[in-house]
Amino acid sequence: MGLVWLDRVHFENPPSRATALIEIVCEACGWLAITSQPPHQVWAEHAAACSAVGGAVRYVPELPPVPTLLPEVRACTHRLVRRQIAVTAAGVKRYAVVCELCGRRLGSA
Ligand SMILES: [Zn+2]
Ligand SMILES: [Zn+2]
Repeated sequence: MGLVWLDRVHFENPPSRATALIEIVCEACGWLAITSQPPHQVWAEHAAACSAVGGAVRYVPELPPVPTLLPEVRACTHRLVRRQIAVTAAGVKRYAVVCELCGRRLGSA
């Protein structure tokens, strides 16, 4: 039973997992469970035992918000160009690498 013992150790010393209680409601019969167990497992148990006509209906009060509006990110594909910015006293040309599209300076050469 080595595996069982190991599981127990893991259970008693969870890495840093907060025990989140999950509320599971059956709309069909009014059954309610507040559990920290895997919700699909708890629900499956109720769904099999639900006395409501037509079977259990899981009520989900709030679904995690679906990000329909993504934050506006101006993703620039950056068309890099070298732009001469200076000529040193020794006659060496200095360049800056900039994006032709957004104007960001991305380095120097
Ligand atoms: Zn039910
Ligand atoms: Zn750019």
